[in-house]
Amino acid sequence: MPTLEQTRAILADLVAFPTVSSDSNLEMIVHIAAMLGDLGAHVDLFHDDGGHKANLFATLGPREAGGGIVLSGHTDVVPVTDQNWATDPFQLHEAEGRLYGRGTCDMKGFIAATLAMAPTYAALDLKKPLHFAFTHDEEVGCLGGQALVAELAARDIRPDIALIGEPTEMRIVEAHKGCCEYTVRFHGQEGHGSNPAAGVNAAEAAVRYVARLMDLAEALKARAPENSPFTPPWTTVNLGRIAGGHAHNVIPGRAEVDWEMRPVQAADIAFVKDAMATHVRDTLLPAMRQVMPEADILTEVIGEVAGLEPMEDSAARTLLMELTGQDRAETVPFATEAGLFQGLGCAAAVCGPGSIAQAHKADEFISFDQLGQCLDMLQALGDMLTR
Ligand SMILES: [Zn+2]
Repeated sequence: MPTLEQTRAILADLVAFPTVSSDSNLEMIVHIAAMLGDLGAHVDLFHDDGGHKANLFATLGPREAGGGIVLSGHTDVVPVTDQNWATDPFQLHEAEGRLYGRGTCDMKGFIAATLAMAPTYAALDLKKPLHFAFTHDEEVGCLGGQALVAELAARDIRPDIALIGEPTEMRIVEAHKGCCEYTVRFHGQEGHGSNPAAGVNAAEAAVRYVARLMDLAEALKARAPENSPFTPPWTTVNLGRIAGGHAHNVIPGRAEVDWEMRPVQAADIAFVKDAMATHVRDTLLPAMRQVMPEADILTEVIGEVAGLEPMEDSAARTLLMELTGQDRAETVPFATEAGLFQGLGCAAAVCGPGSIAQAHKADEFISFDQLGQCLDMLQALGDMLTR
């Protein structure tokens, strides 16, 4: 059994890599790849298009057996700009049973615990593969997770169970909503306000777009699944920002709308996107292009993360209950990569050390107690994997 001291040392190394989402995570990924490679793991790195970031997928035990369990975490952290830290956020600082540093709870603490356990796992006679999935760009829309899951699907690698170690104070989470964010840009034609028909009013198009969106927000309430565990129980839509125009007497040539939805089921994502695409194609654009053929409405996908849908029978929930001795599972309001793994066909659940209350804040920390509980869970997993 690895000690807390070993976990602390690994965590200190991980925190020292300033893997803010906007920057490279390669040094940390290479560091982890070397640790797992030295243990005989099969390690793949999947780089992003720019080559500055990578996902890591590593396997101990019989790869050819298929299935198995994947321990998943993201390597990126949120920025520390404009935050008032008492100590250097990228240098692990210990005080009163806590370890302070950016990413300690979200979620390098979990990654450190899995790496501390890795030598133990490597020495076991594993009957099924044990995978490690460490991604980039989770905090900016789960971009790395989406790319990784696509790679795994292409290689037909489908673990039976995915455990995502986001901070839940080691409670079992079996469901959360997804999060999809969009920026829509309306390109019309400016003109004098005295003759509205001579221009293409981008702000007007934006308002018509939003009106349709708000109708859909109402329609989504009726689509809430029975026994939905969420609050509210349906998929929500939020209009976050609407901007456009200069003055009373000028036809706005440009407008922008930021909106998000928090889906309770994957089908709602398609329901809303298809309806909006139809409205743009069949109604809004034809009207704008009557005046100006180049008029356009362009949608930028900021991030699309499916939720973790609750399952009646979940092997992931059952496993975590067995490992931790808990008899219930919860829902949380934040999104994780669990839904991506569920989309791949894994039974997925979230359970990790530390509290989401500390995530993304100044003086982020994880307690030794939480790390210890995580090690206990991972140790129990090792015992089970040899059965
Ligand atoms: Zn996180």
